[in-house]
Amino acid sequence: MNILHVITLYNRLKDNPDLDVVPRAVIFGGKAAPGYFLAKLIIKLINSVAETMNNDPEVNEKLKVIFLPNYCVSQAEKVIPAADLSEQISTAGTEASGTGNMKFALNGALIIGTLDGANIEIMEEVGRENIFIFGLDAETVEKLREEGYNPGDYYRKDPELKKALDMIRFGNFTPDEPDLFKPIWDKLIMDGDKYLVLADYRQFINAQEQVGRVYRNPKEWTRRSILNTANMGKFSSDRSVLEYARKIWDVKPLE
Ligand SMILES: *Cc1c(COP(=O)(O)O)cnc(C)c1O
Repeated sequence: MNILHVITLYNRLKDNPDLDVVPRAVIFGGKAAPGYFLAKLIIKLINSVAETMNNDPEVNEKLKVIFLPNYCVSQAEKVIPAADLSEQISTAGTEASGTGNMKFALNGALIIGTLDGANIEIMEEVGRENIFIFGLDAETVEKLREEGYNPGDYYRKDPELKKALDMIRFGNFTPDEPDLFKPIWDKLIMDGDKYLVLADYRQFINAQEQVGRVYRNPKEWTRRSILNTANMGKFSSDRSVLEYARKIWDVKPLE
């Protein structure tokens, strides 16, 4: 979904190179298990999108994409304190993010995120108005799945989403291998879109526009940033180890 947002920004800039947007460098870090074909292909897609955009003088002053190879703690130590925005956008109920978001918030980044994993606990600490929450909650995800979710409806009804997906499908970023990313398109449109990416896309785009508006107001952005850092106390390891000791290990601290 993150790369779909990037492609959407790219298309808006291509349609209107004078578009007044906040310049962004979007940095991806992550790894795929060796046998996880689709995750590998998504990494390849991010790199192909990066190559296209970073070499396009019409957009590369306003939009850059970076995929960090071999993401690890040493890289995280540099990237996390430098980040303005942390994107914690897993489908609600899959609980994909537990600690990355805490590291970002502690270091002054604002979070754009779904109601999933530790985003929820962070929201409770920093206040709903100081975190960019979007998308379906876990209950609605369940309900939508039960009622019969049809990603094709979202694809057909949303021209920006359709355009981004078709660019992936028809080799816009890999003209030499036009069918390379077909499995991604198939997974999202033909194969049920297990993670409901298409259902959250429009809300994500809208929330990102809100991010851009707040970023233009440095006083407000800084206020939220300070509140994020100041309210991270609950996530200290002292508290969490003590809680484990009491509730799970049933051991008492030494006097
Ligand atoms: C924190 C961290 C993770 C785990 O992040 P989650 O958001 O908890 O999934 C993985 N890799 C590195 C290098 C980290 O620093």
